[in-house]
Amino acid sequence: MAKDTVTPMMAQYLSIKEENAGALLFYRMGDFYEMFFDDAVAAAAALDIALTKRGLHLGEEIPMCGVPVHAAEGYLLTLIRKGFRVAIAEQLEDPAEAKKRGAKSVVKRGVVRLVTPGTLTEESLLEARRHNFLAAWAELRDEGALAWVDISTGEFRVMPCPLPRLGPELARLAPREVLVSETKEQDCAEIVSDLRAALTPLARSSFDSQGAEKRLCDLFSVGSLDAFGAFSRAEISAMGALVDYLDLTQRGKLPLLRRPLREEAGSLVQIDAATRRNLELTQALSGGREGSLLATIDRTVTAGGARLLERRLSAPSRDLSQIHARHDAVRFLLEQGRFAEDLRADLKRCPDMDRALSRLALDRGGPRDMAAIRNGLEQAGRIAERLGETEAPPILAEAAQRLVGHDDLVALLDAALVAEPPLLARDGGFIASGYEPELDQTRQLRDEGRGVIARMQAEFIEETGIASLKIKHNNVLGYFIETTATHAEKMLAPPLSARFIHRQTTANQVRFTTVELSELETRILNAGNHALEIEKRLYDSLKGAILAAAGPISEASRALAEVDLAAAFADLAAAEDWVEPNVDDSHAFEIAGGRHPVVEAALKRQGEPFVANDCALTAGTTPAIWLLTGPNMAGKSTFLRQNALIALLAQTGSFVPARRAHVGLVSQIFSRVGAADDLARGRSTFMVEMVETAAILNQADARALVILDEIGRGTATYDGLSIAWAVMEHLHGVNRCRALFATHYHEMTALSAKLEGVENATVSVKEWHGEVIFLHEVKKGAADRSYGVQVARLAGLPESVVSRARVVLDALEKGEREGGKKQAVIDDLPLFSVAAAPPAPAPQAAAKSDVEDRLRDLHPDEMTPKQAMDALYELRALL
Ligand code: ADP
Repeated sequence: MAKDTVTPMMAQYLSIKEENAGALLFYRMGDFYEMFFDDAVAAAAALDIALTKRGLHLGEEIPMCGVPVHAAEGYLLTLIRKGFRVAIAEQLEDPAEAKKRGAKSVVKRGVVRLVTPGTLTEESLLEARRHNFLAAWAELRDEGALAWVDISTGEFRVMPCPLPRLGPELARLAPREVLVSETKEQDCAEIVSDLRAALTPLARSSFDSQGAEKRLCDLFSVGSLDAFGAFSRAEISAMGALVDYLDLTQRGKLPLLRRPLREEAGSLVQIDAATRRNLELTQALSGGREGSLLATIDRTVTAGGARLLERRLSAPSRDLSQIHARHDAVRFLLEQGRFAEDLRADLKRCPDMDRALSRLALDRGGPRDMAAIRNGLEQAGRIAERLGETEAPPILAEAAQRLVGHDDLVALLDAALVAEPPLLARDGGFIASGYEPELDQTRQLRDEGRGVIARMQAEFIEETGIASLKIKHNNVLGYFIETTATHAEKMLAPPLSARFIHRQTTANQVRFTTVELSELETRILNAGNHALEIEKRLYDSLKGAILAAAGPISEASRALAEVDLAAAFADLAAAEDWVEPNVDDSHAFEIAGGRHPVVEAALKRQGEPFVANDCALTAGTTPAIWLLTGPNMAGKSTFLRQNALIALLAQTGSFVPARRAHVGLVSQIFSRVGAADDLARGRSTFMVEMVETAAILNQADARALVILDEIGRGTATYDGLSIAWAVMEHLHGVNRCRALFATHYHEMTALSAKLEGVENATVSVKEWHGEVIFLHEVKKGAADRSYGVQVARLAGLPESVVSRARVVLDALEKGEREGGKKQAVIDDLPLFSVAAAPPAPAPQAAAKSDVEDRLRDLHPDEMTPKQAMDALYELRALL
């Protein structure tokens, strides 16, 4: 081959690659998807597969790697997880067709799909119990909007969303991929990468609102979008961009989308990204799902129910009647006991209809997806019947109504499909016998052919006298007669050789055929192919019937998720002894015997009890703030968080971990932790802490619930104290919201005397022979002392240092009580007494003045802990 020629195949490859820049190209060649050039190098490294070479391109060897088509999904998953996008180019014609055009002609190929993180539908690529959202954010003339879809379930939502709200909303949805106009890429890059989602910039034309309107109208076959409500230009632009991108990635095959619903931001509890992280709602601080609130309380038995729980927990309601209706459903199921158990057993048998439906719509489904719809609708009918026999409250009664009406479709699928059909339609065998006479006849012909083969084998044995002769089948030879090499001689010689035609000799076997056998084979083959064709036709018509009912099927699926969630909450309440909270429009926050569900579960595993605690933020006034003091490790953070979680669970529609709970509607939940606990994020932590605190002070309204844990400790003592003090005054005077404030600045307890509605509380500890014992009990009042010294001993500080610290502390406290100045107290401190140290050699008395001089040179405020320790050793040595 000349050095600079490009083979026709390479030319085709390069032109497809050029049209799909930015994605790895899976180029179908026979049973493999091949990758070339840089794609091959990147994919081989990412997949840990061999990188080989193939031919020359412009004089250079072409790097290549490939994955077998049948195993492609697993490789795709790895690539998507590692942040790649993959374009799949299939052969669009039979290679025989290409040959007809000339020996050099290349098989037609084209991209049939672009696989990206936000557009997955395969069962193996998705997490069953989580949504897979694709979001788009648009901004038109200072007006922002966010739209999102889950193409694996058809969920389609939109809401107004100015840039500052983008972070919190994306944190709630946790999308896998976010689309923005290329002009906005920079504004969004950090927000999106913080969420570990893929950011996909699109040309501005994708966001053009006029084009968008037309795309949406076409998609839903309506003349005007007004049919769905009044949307702003920005909302239409965001929705249009989603549809445009789906068109691009799915290559014209649009998924089934439900009509877009506007989400009213005002109807949901606002929770920002930092609060979600802190409260570990759906992800633990360690990053995994384990240890999160979601993982601890999830008792749903269907994938749809699990996805609904995650959605609800991420966005609790602010609508009192909705919250009450959800509690009614949980209480009803809890009171029914046995009934709820039976209901859950039925639910457990419900397959994931949403995802089956979406695969069928995108032509990526198979008979098993049809069976999922059949089984799901069947169960739905059974569940509706059960609910119908009771006086179910509105949420469940409405769900029951949406579960029925599918008898005809169920009857059709029941008659048409075998009980457990294969995954793929390709090989047939999924249509039940008795459904279509023509298919039955053809199959009979095919199967009889097999009977005839058996008879033919008996005849051949008789004719040849070779009892071990067999008729077998493989994909290369089709049907053939096989004997061992010893017997074969007889068949290779006349007279038998006239009839038995030699086909193949292997190590031990010789294979033959006869004219009748090949004729019979053709008949069987034709019948088999014909049967496959009929099944394919029936598959399409069943698919048509299912898709025609897509709307009601997804309604039924949502209803099942609703019932599952209510039953799961009831089960949780029964097992964990949770109570129904009283949620109303007051400003109350009164919890008796509250617990932290995740900490409690962790302690339970270790066989330890959780100490329940009360919290009462009202006392007839607004604002109401508790200032919590107490030593480290006493349980302050746990107490703070448990109260936020109780409010959140109550408005999610769940019962709550408490003996009694009265929650006045909460509009926003904020939770912040002092910088020292936030080291993992590795930014200028004090700065982050202050930025986040500022956000609360600027945003919290009178219905907000704020928890602040050790705010201000990321800086020097007096700075920290002053900041904490001022923050508290602002919360009290300006935000006027309910708040829990944990601090180790005892000075702040004085605020309770100055500000009405501020109360002191402390997590009590007991001292026992100089050791501290954590009681984890929260009671009114300020901590009498900090116990830091005792906790230090627990941590293993040398005894001499602990006793010395106590002396210093006593002196400082005494000085403070007597109104002395700190510096004077420090000057008057008795010297570090050796007697407090563990057995030491008799000290050499040092000149008192040396030690004094050295001490006077020290400036504790300017020393690091290490320098302080060094100085201590130095002083010790002077004695
Ligand atoms: P602090 O914020 O005061 O330093 P934490 O809230 O982090 O303390 O609690 C420290 C540990 O004490 C927790 O990990 C938990 O194991 C235990 N703990 C906290 N609260 C309780 C409680 N109410 N009952 C039992 N153990 C608790």
